[in-house]
Amino acid sequence: MARIRILAPDVVGKIRAGEVIDRPAAVAKELIENGIDAGSRLIAIHVGSSPERLIRVLDDGGGMTRDDAVLSIKRHATSKLEHDRDLESMKTLGFRGEALASIAEVSRMTLSTRSADDLTGTQVEVLGGTLIQVSGVGRAVGTTVSVEDLFFNTPARLRFLKSRDSETRALSRVVWSYILTMPAIHWRFQVEGKEDVDLPPTSDPALAGDFLERWSLVYGRGVSKGADAGVPFEGEIGGMLFRGVLGTPEQARANRDHQYFAVNGRVVSSPTLGAALRQGYMNLVPSDRYPIGLLTIEIDPSLVDVNVHPTKREVRFRDESRVFQATRAAVEEAMRRYVPAGVGAAGGASSLGRPFAGVELDAAAPGAPPPPPQPLLDGLDLARALYAPPESLGADFAREGGSAGTDAPGETGETGDLRENLAEPEISIWQLHDRYLLAPIRGGLVIIDQHAAHERILYEEARGRLFGPGGPSQHLLFPRVLDLTRDELDTLLLNEAHMRRLGYEVSLFGERQIAVRGVPASIPEEAAMEALKRLLVAADDADASGDPPEERIARTFACHAAVRSGQPLKPQERRALVDQLFATELPHGDPHGRATYVRLSMEELDRRFGRR
Ligand code: ADP
Ligand code: MG
Repeated sequence: MARIRILAPDVVGKIRAGEVIDRPAAVAKELIENGIDAGSRLIAIHVGSSPERLIRVLDDGGGMTRDDAVLSIKRHATSKLEHDRDLESMKTLGFRGEALASIAEVSRMTLSTRSADDLTGTQVEVLGGTLIQVSGVGRAVGTTVSVEDLFFNTPARLRFLKSRDSETRALSRVVWSYILTMPAIHWRFQVEGKEDVDLPPTSDPALAGDFLERWSLVYGRGVSKGADAGVPFEGEIGGMLFRGVLGTPEQARANRDHQYFAVNGRVVSSPTLGAALRQGYMNLVPSDRYPIGLLTIEIDPSLVDVNVHPTKREVRFRDESRVFQATRAAVEEAMRRYVPAGVGAAGGASSLGRPFAGVELDAAAPGAPPPPPQPLLDGLDLARALYAPPESLGADFAREGGSAGTDAPGETGETGDLRENLAEPEISIWQLHDRYLLAPIRGGLVIIDQHAAHERILYEEARGRLFGPGGPSQHLLFPRVLDLTRDELDTLLLNEAHMRRLGYEVSLFGERQIAVRGVPASIPEEAAMEALKRLLVAADDADASGDPPEERIARTFACHAAVRSGQPLKPQERRALVDQLFATELPHGDPHGRATYVRLSMEELDRRFGRR
């Protein structure tokens, strides 16, 4: 066996440098963080067409004296950490004193800087870790670091780099993550032949709206005018302050690349935060897609450990589960309030970052069902109108749908309100091939999938009943008798309480038969019976998602009770469906995460017709 030797210092240096600086994006990250730590109001990043050829970061921060500049490139040289106990409460992004030394070790680096107390600046040139020259320069207060020929002396690293495009993309992502999370800083970002932006600080960086301003620059491009580029939100939960922008459910992507997290100003990745973001969208985003969003969190620094990784890219929290719960609750709350622009019962402007002071952490314990939704309008009245609209067409649709009618007590009073709703200046809602509803909205057209939309409506209604005190039943004049298998009977007995809360009144009738004497009041008898049969088959299916039974029952019920695709709907029914949909908590998706509607803007139409 070969003898053990101590590695030569320059080899150790290169290995360690590689831990901190593994690709061009890491250079950008470290230099930007130094600029932020130096209190800069302007940070300008210039990148060559191949990022390993040139990265230059200029800032207007505090700068360094000549002595500090020379010291700064030494390993473990830092002005930010004096005692180990300071590690507990880091307020700066840097503290290890490794970045400049690591970059200098594996590149040709030129640092020029001037502090406010000095009349002239200092320029330091380093080649592969060796100090070449220190000279005076005239320059403004601040610091400029140029990094050329990265990894010229570590060919293995160089070979390990990905294509020019993917290195540039990775670097861009780092830069944009800071641009997005730090709207108070004036950013300039140039990539030769690709990008060139100049973004002065936004007007009032203390507001969530300012995150939206920057966010819209990137994620507003594909979004038509009048629609939301994102949902700004802000609030405090469990001692943590959340601010940021959430993408709309339709903006969800196939990967996590468009999720940005900043904890105490540090851009980080964290599986905990990723999972919380996703769960905060509830079932609005299909399981194979990832919501996009920008989440900044202010939290007591002593509850965060950033020192788990040499690049400080990942954070750990002292209490991961608490952070998870608070984050999920924050996102969920924001999504519940969100009403897409241009649609909605109230004419719908999007909800702008109101603080959500009322949210209690305990209400969002993992696995516990979210509180039952409270619809803006009474979903039940409207739901009734869907199948049994007042006046003229009530009876005849009921017959078409095979219903025995829905003469529930109190109907006249309840539908009175509805009639007033419908009496508003009437907009036509068209039905296309008995499947889609088309309605004009401010700035364009909304196309609604009638089945998916009704599924969303019934799902929320069912959850409200199952998690709450239950809902009204419509008594059947002639009880319906069903033959059941042994298994179905068992399922029924096990879930009897749930069925009752949904609105089913069932009694045993013979050995394998049941009599159904009442069904949920909001849907026609036939649909209710169909849903019941499905529930008895499906209710005890083991669910891999681990959802509570109420959740599964609500989903199955909604899916089978909802109006079918292929079912003609009368104008009032269409209207009721649209109104109800936008009165739900989460109108954008059905319980399986499919879209309930699609928007088409006037801009889009105009473009297609070559009007612009
Ligand atoms: P760290 O940021 O962990 O302290 P670095 O190697 O990144 O370590 O920087 C070393 C030191 O150099 C910093 O502590 C700081 O005092 C100084 N420094 C680096 N970049 C800048 C800058 N852009 N402006 C002012 N001082 C800087
Ligand atoms: Mg640093």
